[in-house]
Amino acid sequence: MARLSSAQAKSEMPHDAVVRRSLSILGATGSIGKNTLDLVSRTPDAFEIIALTAQNSVAELAESAKRVGARLAVIGNERQYGELKSLLSGTGIKVAAGPTAVVAAAAEPADCVMAAIVGAAGLEPTFEAVRQGRRLALANKECLVSAGAVFMAEVARTGAELLPVDSEHSAALQVVGNVEPASIEKLTLTASGGPFRTWDEEQLARATPEEALRHPNWSMGAKVTIDSATLMNKGLELIEAYHLFPVNADQLGVVVHPQSIVHCLVSFTDGSVIAQLACPDMRTPIALSLSWPQRMTTPTKKLDLVALGSLTFEAPDEKRFPALDLAREALRRGATAPAVLNAANEVAVEAFLARRIPFPAIAQIVEQGLDGGESRGLIRSEGGLKGILNVDAEARQLAHSLLDRYV
Ligand code: NAD
Ligand code: MG
Repeated sequence: MARLSSAQAKSEMPHDAVVRRSLSILGATGSIGKNTLDLVSRTPDAFEIIALTAQNSVAELAESAKRVGARLAVIGNERQYGELKSLLSGTGIKVAAGPTAVVAAAAEPADCVMAAIVGAAGLEPTFEAVRQGRRLALANKECLVSAGAVFMAEVARTGAELLPVDSEHSAALQVVGNVEPASIEKLTLTASGGPFRTWDEEQLARATPEEALRHPNWSMGAKVTIDSATLMNKGLELIEAYHLFPVNADQLGVVVHPQSIVHCLVSFTDGSVIAQLACPDMRTPIALSLSWPQRMTTPTKKLDLVALGSLTFEAPDEKRFPALDLAREALRRGATAPAVLNAANEVAVEAFLARRIPFPAIAQIVEQGLDGGESRGLIRSEGGLKGILNVDAEARQLAHSLLDRYV
């Protein structure tokens, strides 16, 4: 292999060698969507914005569409169509509304689609981007949890390029990119442990949404922040990793690392362990999903290990945080069990945020949802995306009926 001398390599190194890409952002007003737009506004020459979508935040959507010169702005909530139209009148930006229009936005020709809708609501639009064979920057982990096999089969069929945005999976991608699958022994995702890492069961029983939303390291949307507090987020991420990387369920591990500096560790058969480190800022994994295999400059704080002094690791306490094992159990049961788990969790998180159920009830509803789903025949073979959507709807109904026990 021809090699550049280090001096030659330095002189030929481009400053920020990112090719110009067209990009659509599904969920442009959320935490991931806004971080993506922040990167776009820092390197406007690198991106041409095709479509932006949001569910309800119409003013913010219109403002962002104008700022980045989007061609299309889509609001999921049809009742906001008139307002979006008037906010964007005279700009030349096309306007549409409703769930079908969100799916159509995902089909607009673009080099890359950022899938940053939260929850199973993102299944259809995200799947559409895969169907079109696009590069998919995937933040919406619920897609791979609910419909992992269906998504991966479509990725294989269309040649879509799936790049994870989740920091742990972005880290894993950087480590396992070119290695021989058989040489991987274990893939360990790190978890911050969330705001309740040191709380006892009595304190957990009284935890409020405000306390659960106070994440120590990351600033994120409400759903994923509650998932981080229950550790369900790490459970969902185990399922996500199972679909993305060549490992079995028993090769996936979790370690609590409160500083959120190491994002994933890959252990190899020769005893080597390779980890990826970065200060906790989603703009780093988002940037990589957009520029891969190149890298782009981000404003993420530089890592200073000496200033940090120490990094600590501990085993997750599965008694106080049973969600992690529920996710493993769903993976063990297979078929549509992860879709049932995800639907029950979404319903329970919403109910906790609405103060209808106490914090520990989130995991209880997921457990009862999985068991009740099994006896009602909800755990069955996937049956394509339509089959998954049916299971998701039925599992939601079941979870709603379980909520009544707490009110
Ligand atoms: P968020 O709640 O901040 O934003 C969600 C976005 O989805 C908003 O733009 C909203 O308008 C849109 N949306 C909501 N409901 C919708 C619906 N029914 N139809 C269409 N659009 C809808 O969420 P977030 O924190 O940005 O997370 C997005 C996804 O990324 C989640 O799956 C989350 O697990 C994942 N993720 C987030 C982070 C993070 O730092 N926020 C990190 C890793 C992974
Ligand atoms: Mg993550």
